[in-house]
Amino acid sequence: MVAMNNIAENIKIIRTKIEKAAQSCDRDPAEVNLVAVSKKQSTENIEAALKAGHRLFGENRVQEAQDHWGPLKKEYPDVKLHLIGPLQTNKVKDAVALFDCFETLDREKLALKLANEMAEQQRDLPCFIQINTGKEPQKSGVLPEFVAEFYDYCRYECGLDIRGLMCIPPVDGAAALHFALLKKLADEHDFKELSMGMSADFEQAITQGATYVRVGTALFGARE
Ligand SMILES: *Cc1c(COP(=O)(O)O)cnc(C)c1O
Repeated sequence: MVAMNNIAENIKIIRTKIEKAAQSCDRDPAEVNLVAVSKKQSTENIEAALKAGHRLFGENRVQEAQDHWGPLKKEYPDVKLHLIGPLQTNKVKDAVALFDCFETLDREKLALKLANEMAEQQRDLPCFIQINTGKEPQKSGVLPEFVAEFYDYCRYECGLDIRGLMCIPPVDGAAALHFALLKKLADEHDFKELSMGMSADFEQAITQGATYVRVGTALFGARE
C-alpha cells in the first residue's frame, strides 16, 4: 500500500507527464484522459485517488469491480468506470449495471448481449473495440483485418455506440509498433478515441495519438 499523499502526488506527476507528452507533439493535453487502473488495489488507495479529485477509473474483472465500486460509486456518483478486461457473457448484466464504458468489445455474441442488456437497463454506454494488434492466439481482440466488419455489426446490427479502438500490446514486443497500427486503423475507419498506453509507455502512446491512457502501478504503486 502506498501512503495517501503519495497517490495524490503520483496523480500530479502523471498529469504533468501527460501534459508534456501532449505538448511535445502539438496536441491539446485536454484530449488525453487518464484512466486510473484500480484492479488489485486496496480500498484505501482507491479512496486516496478519489480524495485527490480523480474520477475516471478502470477495472479488469466484474466481480472485483463490484467489490471495489459497489459502495464507492454511491458515495461518488460522478465516478466513471471503464471495463478494461475480458467480459464473459454471463457477467454482462452485472457489468452493464456497474460500468460506464466498455473497452474490450471483441466478438459478436458479446456485442449483441451488451446491446440487449443496455436496452433492458436503459443505459446507452460507450464502447471501444479491442484490437489484437499482435495477433496473439491467447489474447482477446478483433484481428486488424476484421475491424470494419466487426464495427458494422456492432453499430448497425446492434446499435452500439462505438467510440474508438483499444489495444494491449504484447508484453515483450515494441509497444510503439502496436500503437502505430492502432492509430492507422483508427484513421482508416474514422474512430476518434484511442485507448492505449500503460504505466511504462503512456507518454509514448500519447505522442502516437492516445486519447485514453490506462495507468495502474505508476499511480497506485505495486498491486497486491
Ligand atoms: C492492469 C492493466 C493496465 C495497467 O497496467 P500498469 O502497467 O499497472 O499501468 C492497463 N490496461 C489493462 C488492460 C490492464 O489490464
